[in-house]
Amino acid sequence: MFRRVAIIGGGAAAASVLSELLERESPQPLQLDWFAGTGRPARGVAYGSDSERHLLNVRAASMGMFAGRPRGFLDFVQRDDPTIAGTDFLPRRRYGDYLEAEVARALEQGKARGHHVNLVPFEVDALVPEHDGITVIHGERSHRADAAVLALGALPPQPLAGVSAAALDSGRYVVDPWPWLAQLDAVPPPRTVALIGLGLTAVDVLLELSARWPKAEFVAISRHGLLPEAHLTHAAAPADDGAELVNAMRDGPDIHRWMHLLRETIAPQGTEWRPIVDSLRPHLPGLWRELPPEQRARFMRHARWAWERVRHRMPPQVHEAIAALERHGRLQRRRGRLEAAAPADAGLQLQLQYAGRGDVLHADLAIQTTGLTTDVRRSRHRLVRQLLTNAHVTDDPLGLGLVADPDGRLHHHGQPWPHLFAIGSLLRGTLWESTAMPEIRQQARQLADQLLAG
Ligand SMILES: Cc1cc2nc3c(=O)[nH]c(=O)nc-3n(C[C@H](O)[C@H](O)[C@H](O)COP(=O)(O)OP(=O)(O)OC[C@H]3O[C@@H](n4cnc5c(N)ncnc54)[C@H](O)[C@@H]3O)c2cc1C
Repeated sequence: MFRRVAIIGGGAAAASVLSELLERESPQPLQLDWFAGTGRPARGVAYGSDSERHLLNVRAASMGMFAGRPRGFLDFVQRDDPTIAGTDFLPRRRYGDYLEAEVARALEQGKARGHHVNLVPFEVDALVPEHDGITVIHGERSHRADAAVLALGALPPQPLAGVSAAALDSGRYVVDPWPWLAQLDAVPPPRTVALIGLGLTAVDVLLELSARWPKAEFVAISRHGLLPEAHLTHAAAPADDGAELVNAMRDGPDIHRWMHLLRETIAPQGTEWRPIVDSLRPHLPGLWRELPPEQRARFMRHARWAWERVRHRMPPQVHEAIAALERHGRLQRRRGRLEAAAPADAGLQLQLQYAGRGDVLHADLAIQTTGLTTDVRRSRHRLVRQLLTNAHVTDDPLGLGLVADPDGRLHHHGQPWPHLFAIGSLLRGTLWESTAMPEIRQQARQLADQLLAG
């Protein structure tokens, strides 16, 4: 077993691995160094929002942090309010409370078992994997560990190509909406706001800004101009386990064929297509691995946007709130791609391109809401850069994190490290479906098994 483990990251994935380890009996006490960064440990980006408007996009009954207790979150909230149903979509802030409570409980339990946890409230700058362990460096300090887990979440977004340095310097082009939203009180209310990207991040930003700035109007731009689909108010159980569809897909791993099969299966179902999409979810890592590289690339080019719209859905009440903004003329959706952004007339001039035609839009403020970033090749994340520069890890060729084994062991020079692991978004290239709690808690359980088996 690995006795000294460094867990690097301050979000739900790091909290899950830590808590899984502390809950286990192990032959020797563990020494766990948790490098949680500077935010509130366990909450990370998703559950650090204090806004009641930001809801989970997964029903309460499916959000447990432990694979062995998938209803744990529901039990937690029902202790205070028994009227909450498992089908409800609750504020993410409440989920952060649950994560903190579970970590506190696991720390107590771990202490009673003799495990030792050292919470280090700093970012890790560098890692040096060697044959007999790993050196973890932050600032001037270094720690030794037998194994390390990267739980870094998605990477900080980079400005889109074409956004000028002057636009960035003006403070009117926001690249990362989450830290910016936390400082919103200091921002003077604008009249027109452009959102670049139209997924769940845009939806959250719209909900918050439209309530805080009642006179502001919004233009949301995306390639297809479509919002994410919505969950139904009732939870429909999958009609079956998806085995027939999955078997048919396995017979010919080709993206066009798969999309055709999916459309054929879904079309007769009317609004009940959702359970079919959901039934595929546990099979996706296996299916993704069977896709040849050129088919994965084709998926990324042609089908990814359509899949993400149906897979990552918004709660029904959020859908209604966004529809109301459109009905009241406060939200306009436009198809297009951002070509350039530059300051103009105390605002920004945005140049858009759609179907070979140019278009210009003026806005007081533009917010980049393009969602999850996992392209390590473009990232300025210090630790990721250091690991890549020293060839300790390998970038995924499609920009989906780092090359790894399905069990999370990171690769270098074509070989898996025995003691360097990742969990969550950085494993998208290996597993595809690897960002939400139902997957992360499974990964955390398997990681704890491996670390203790060593
Ligand atoms: C806005 C939003 C809403 C979401 N809603 C849901 C939902 O409703 N249900 C669901 O299941 N999933 C949801 N997700 C998916 C979400 O990614 C996972 O549920 C989960 O929060 C991922 O946790 P994480 O720890 O992998 O990443 P993060 O939450 O991103 O945490 C990673 C943390 O590591 C820190 N870090 C980075 N580098 C270092 C370093 N070098 N040293 C130390 N720390 C470092 C970061 O600062 C960050 O705090 C949502 C995601 C987002 C962004």
